[in-house]
Amino acid sequence: MVSACAELARRISGFDAEQCRLAGLAQAAASAQGRPLLYRDFAPRRASGEPHRVLVLGGIHGDEFSAVVVAFQWIERLKNDRFQPYQWRVLPCVNPDGLMAQPARRMNANGVDLNRNFPAPDWEARALKFWSARTGHDPRRYPGPKAASEPETRWVLEQIRSFRPDAIVSVHAPLNVLDFDGPYNPPVKLGYLRLQPLGSYPGSLGDYGGDFLKLPVITLELPTARHTPSADQSARILDDLIDWIDTALRKPG
Ligand SMILES: [Zn+2]
Repeated sequence: MVSACAELARRISGFDAEQCRLAGLAQAAASAQGRPLLYRDFAPRRASGEPHRVLVLGGIHGDEFSAVVVAFQWIERLKNDRFQPYQWRVLPCVNPDGLMAQPARRMNANGVDLNRNFPAPDWEARALKFWSARTGHDPRRYPGPKAASEPETRWVLEQIRSFRPDAIVSVHAPLNVLDFDGPYNPPVKLGYLRLQPLGSYPGSLGDYGGDFLKLPVITLELPTARHTPSADQSARILDDLIDWIDTALRKPG
């Protein structure tokens, strides 16, 4: 853990190993190259009935540093928020091998775009075909030899099974929009990000979680991969997200 935090701090300028240590992450599994896959849980501070459950993923693409930092900013905020109402599980760095590669890269250590590796039922029929026909075999978008072939993908799937989220948030960069898949009316804005549906790709989390599992999947595309939002901007996104969940996912009774 200490070395995982030191590695992250060496790689992401302006990110502090101490901030990582204070996040109190637990290790659940290991990446393809044996790096720890880390998470942090938060219980609701004001519980009324059955709390909503929210799964947050940062850095599924290894070259999107700002996504990792925003997940840590949210961890810090959730730790200190005396009123937050939900059950959270935050996975701040889903693709540590891609992040630590020289140079950092989108894919994991096996060259797989993890956000094309989720086992949507039509993966076999569509993912590799889409990759060759629509991306011209772009190595940055390789969906893998088969669905859920990668340890990082399987770890996220295990979190979805065990944590049973009501909503999934995945943080990316640099398209500067808010994307949405699945049921419910999408949020029109979260902080400075505005809704602009991007459509889902075969094997993406939006495709798997939104279209197949019928869970709302909120994709945050931060404006740049290297420049992190301020703590204030990041907090506003989180506050708007909590408000949206409160309204959109209201449980009966
Ligand atoms: Zn991305």
